[in-house]
Amino acid sequence: MKNLVLLGSTGSIGVSTLEIVAAYPERFRVLALTGNYNVDALAQQVRRFSPRLVAVPDAARAQVLRELVPDRNVEVLSGLQGLRACAALAEADLVVSAITGFAGLEPTLAAIEAGHDVALANKETLVAAGALVTSRARALGVRIYPVDSEHSAIFQALQGQREAQVRRLILTASGGPFYQSSPEEIERATPEAALNHPRWRMGKKVTIDSATMMNKGLEVIEAHWLFDMPEEKIAVQIHPQSVVHSMVEYVDGALIAQMGVPDMKIPIAYALAFPERLALDLPPLDLCTLGSLTFAAPDDRRFPCLSIAREALRQGGTVPAVMNAANEVAVACFLNKTIQFGQIAEVIRATLEQHSPSAVTDLETVIEADRKGRQTARRIAAAKENAQ
Ligand code: MG
Repeated sequence: MKNLVLLGSTGSIGVSTLEIVAAYPERFRVLALTGNYNVDALAQQVRRFSPRLVAVPDAARAQVLRELVPDRNVEVLSGLQGLRACAALAEADLVVSAITGFAGLEPTLAAIEAGHDVALANKETLVAAGALVTSRARALGVRIYPVDSEHSAIFQALQGQREAQVRRLILTASGGPFYQSSPEEIERATPEAALNHPRWRMGKKVTIDSATMMNKGLEVIEAHWLFDMPEEKIAVQIHPQSVVHSMVEYVDGALIAQMGVPDMKIPIAYALAFPERLALDLPPLDLCTLGSLTFAAPDDRRFPCLSIAREALRQGGTVPAVMNAANEVAVACFLNKTIQFGQIAEVIRATLEQHSPSAVTDLETVIEADRKGRQTARRIAAAKENAQ
């Protein structure tokens, strides 16, 4: 029996994780759940999975949740303290980190500091603080299992191989909804169009990141930290069918790819049960029906975010954290319709131009870089809004 803590249980990854847990009650027990604004969904999860501990963002929501489950023996906590307490729960065997954005960093670190293995869906944790997170995990003997589909694919393609014999990693990208669009169409794309991802059903933040290709930029940084691979050895290829989830190229020229239907349950289940595989109730991948798989190089002119992220990784220090902060702000502004789609990259670039990089020595450095990055990005985005 594996004891799980699930951070971000009402989001897309959280819900899929609980579906797997529900299918395998003899394997997994849920000790703690944390959610954000959807208290009703959290209350249903409490009834279904009987966690000992639950955390929500504030005291008001904690009270609402208590009143929704008065008959349940569950402790309801709130705020960052509550998240940390769930992440560090002594009996946990695995902490699933599925909170969106920078907000996932501190609870993920709390899990690592408590010595718990982590199934990591929150890529921003490694983008903002990869050096810190991986060095603490190494020091404490904590394993980080990737949940992101591309990184899970690479992790799977590395099994039984020698990491020293890897020539490069190849991340695949669907290209998002605007893969075929003209620069003019991309510039003025609406949130509705950007949220309409052709292959994957995901949360809003990652879907917009996918449309700008920043998602792939964040994933290059994530791959750098997870697999200790330099930036220039992490390639990106556009693969619109989203069947090959990523590949590892070895020194002899052999490419090992992981394929499957685009469903996050596959990488989630692999992270939950590693090294075992769980039988999942998914349609089989039928390559004959698909007929053909295509691959192409990414277009930096139409999608500049990928090269912005590569440059941030090369610069290192606080630069990726600031880039991530600016991206989170810009995506929120775009979803609120205060800036245009094409301005997301402009906000990020302008924010980075105003940042004086420093080395990341501790968590406080990262939190401060994130705070300042958000401040700068909000100012730049507001100026763009006023100029419209
Ligand atoms: Mg991904």
